Amino acid sequence: MLSVTGLTKSFPGARALDGVDLAVGPGEVHALIGENGAGKSTLIKVLTGVYRPDGGEIVLDGAPVRFATPLEAQHAGISTIYQEVNLVPLMSVARNLFLGREPRGRLGLIDFGRMHRAADEALRSLGLRVDVRRPLRSLGVGAQQMVALARAVSVDARVVVMDEPTSSLEPREVRTLFGVIRMLRERGIAVIYVSHRLDELYEICDTVTVLRDGRRVHGGPIAGLERLRLVSLMLGREMGQVRGEGRTKFSHQHGSHQHGAGGPGGAGASGTHREPVLEASGLTLRQVLHGVSVRVRPGEVVGLGGLLGSGRTETAKAVAGALAPESGRVVVAGAPVRTGSTPAAIRAGISLLPEDRKAEGIVPGLSVRENIALAALPGLARFGLVDDARIDRLVETFMKRLRIKAAGPHQKVGELSGGNQQKVLLARWLAMRPKVLLLDEPTRGIDVGAKAEVQTLIDELAGEGLGVVLISSDMEELIEGSDRVVVLKDGAVVAELAGAEVTEDRLLAAIATGGAAPPPPDGNTGGNTDGIDGAADGTASANTVGDGGGHD
Ligand code: ADP
Ligand code: MG
Repeated sequence: MLSVTGLTKSFPGARALDGVDLAVGPGEVHALIGENGAGKSTLIKVLTGVYRPDGGEIVLDGAPVRFATPLEAQHAGISTIYQEVNLVPLMSVARNLFLGREPRGRLGLIDFGRMHRAADEALRSLGLRVDVRRPLRSLGVGAQQMVALARAVSVDARVVVMDEPTSSLEPREVRTLFGVIRMLRERGIAVIYVSHRLDELYEICDTVTVLRDGRRVHGGPIAGLERLRLVSLMLGREMGQVRGEGRTKFSHQHGSHQHGAGGPGGAGASGTHREPVLEASGLTLRQVLHGVSVRVRPGEVVGLGGLLGSGRTETAKAVAGALAPESGRVVVAGAPVRTGSTPAAIRAGISLLPEDRKAEGIVPGLSVRENIALAALPGLARFGLVDDARIDRLVETFMKRLRIKAAGPHQKVGELSGGNQQKVLLARWLAMRPKVLLLDEPTRGIDVGAKAEVQTLIDELAGEGLGVVLISSDMEELIEGSDRVVVLKDGAVVAELAGAEVTEDRLLAAIATGGAAPPPPDGNTGGNTDGIDGAADGTASANTVGDGGGHD
């Protein structure tokens, strides 16, 4: 139905696709997977006419095609639901469904009656019952996504592309979606399905393509492909190729401190006998976290492992007050902390270095000095006056300590390299004298030298008695930098590795199988099309979607 050969696409500074091949037959559900930045979205955007490829060929139904616009791709029969629902929120549900192809009367005016009936029918066939005259934004996110799906399948598609369709769906909406996918499969439509959720892939997909760094590293049937192998392929870490000696600490070459084993110097001491500095328990956040618990002792680095979307970032944010969990407790050094409040978390001694330093942290237009002092400022004021000398001392201390390379404290942070920006951000949080430091991808996107420095620093900080939570997609960093690794999968803790268990093999196995290797769910057991069948005879009240509303 669709075959792609040698597809290439570069952006300034990034080779997003590097000679990618992919083929999907009629009625085939094809999983497209890979870690963040692998090229999945770019591939989809090329297929759907959003981007033009630099090279390679796309053949649809035997004929070479080239799309200049998404509309052209759609007319040719390639339909898509993007990661972000991209409809028009203020327009009615029906209008969204028929955007650009509204049924019109003789005078060229939109035939609203016909449009509403057709929209109603299209949505019912997917098990969704809503008032199609209401604005799209009045629906919940899941329902909006179903409208996008209805739009995608109602345009005589030959190929339907879904980029992370389930990320905002409720479990029962996922069931409905899978029902729709099975229906598409029966109609001989090819489906390309992007998701990080392995369970889903094994349940709904027939074949799989694994991308890594813009290249196809694997293609073939998904049944019989071991999960462990799949995860290894995604992460680019082959079993057996990994070092057997376990982990080496970041700082082993520096010998600057010792956590875990105690030893001379003693500042870090062995955390194992101490009371936890952080105890987060039962953190629950709708659809994202399901009772996650993490404890960290002073001087300990606890890694959070898991695939993208497993809930690592959300766990860190829930602990740091940036997300409000519906239930669960956060206790720092024995004292309960009010959840859902960043100031409360900061007062309690929790600092979070966020994943996206551009969006959530650094202020490029301000100086190094201002960026570092930003959060600590209230504490540095006396009688309401900012104590400049104290700030100077603080900034100088941290610039030295973190080896921040800048012309001086007054240079704008935006002019520094990524690694130095990251250090400035780290300095800001350290200036708050935290007891617990949460680091979300602290070395992503910074150069090798700065990376090693940040890693050393993390180790030193733990050595001084800080409790550290480390999130990293870099397996080596996670393994070498953590005393213990808590493995998350679909928002729940599935395994915990400590000491000698912290090896790449063990970690891969835990990520792939969730620890105890549960059998993949059987996609053929009953109930899989309930949503569709039920709706068709008008009894599927369980699939009726009411006002979501609250997501705006
Ligand atoms: P995925 O969807 O698998 O996470 P993407 O296709 O989004 O991966 O990204 C692949 C690579 O291309 C990444 O390195 C990303 O930074 C880069 N990239 C994607 N889109 C753009 C763009 N519009 N401009 C520049 N670089 C981009
Ligand atoms: Mg993507």
